[in-house]
Amino acid sequence: MRRIIVAKTMEEAYKARRDSAGAVYLTGGTEVLRLGGRADAGSTIIDISSFLPADISLDRDKNLVIGAAATFQDVIDSPLTPEWLRKACRYMASLSLRMQATVGGNIASLRDDSYLIPTLLAAGARLKTYGNRGFMEGSLQDYVSNGGSRYAILSVTVDRDACVASRRIARSSSTHSALNIALGRGRGFFAALKGSGILQGIEAINACEPVDDLTGSAGYKRYIIGQCAGLLSQEVEE
Ligand SMILES: Cc1cc2nc3c(=O)[nH]c(=O)nc-3n(C[C@H](O)[C@H](O)[C@H](O)COP(=O)(O)OP(=O)(O)OC[C@H]3O[C@@H](n4cnc5c(N)ncnc54)[C@H](O)[C@@H]3O)c2cc1C
Repeated sequence: MRRIIVAKTMEEAYKARRDSAGAVYLTGGTEVLRLGGRADAGSTIIDISSFLPADISLDRDKNLVIGAAATFQDVIDSPLTPEWLRKACRYMASLSLRMQATVGGNIASLRDDSYLIPTLLAAGARLKTYGNRGFMEGSLQDYVSNGGSRYAILSVTVDRDACVASRRIARSSSTHSALNIALGRGRGFFAALKGSGILQGIEAINACEPVDDLTGSAGYKRYIIGQCAGLLSQEVEE
């Protein structure tokens, strides 16, 4: 049977996760609680939604700070959100899902069809996290390179003035994407490629051997990578 712990503080949540093998955090629950999702029958689910920040604000340097519990719809609705980030949030086509799914949960899921990670990487996003050494800050790039972590994500910071362009290629707005690719001026290309994972840099993208799956054949994926890279380069150079 699943066990749900409703944590009241970050410290309590972290200890519960550390002490329980296979435990997962719960924020929006769209990934954890869905059928076939991340929490199997015997797992411990630690609800962190009550205290996780959900506000969207500017820091002293006018960077955008998004609380990890902000939903996709919160980000779209905020007047502070730059258009390139709003676009990435709209890749989640379902309004009901957008009103529940959080930014922190999307990042931590590290999905190979991630809506947000390529765009956030292309913007040079930084994460505030909580783990065994207390509060920490680091780049999203390191978080992804390390395959995520057991730390809780508290907030994401991005430069609102970053120049980022992205494309999502899928059979329909509501099916898994074959490719979600973003280019940031001065930062390069980042992609979520179905079956291959999250790829950082054009070398990693070009070196990757795509796989045939429901979203498309390997040849099709190679083709859309080439086409999208060309389009994004034009957009970012303009
Ligand atoms: C029908 C359907 C289709 C979907 N399609 C896509 C898709 O194409 N692309 C995509 O990216 N997602 C997709 N999702 C997954 C999901 O909706 C999003 O990734 C969402 O943003 C996850 O956020 P959440 O708050 O619901 O996370 P939760 O379900 O609460 O948690 C997801 C994971 O993140 C961890 N977690 C949650 N919050 C934090 C935190 N603050 N710090 C550290 N770890 C945390 C949990 O332990 C868990 O492993 C889909 C979901 C559904 C139901």
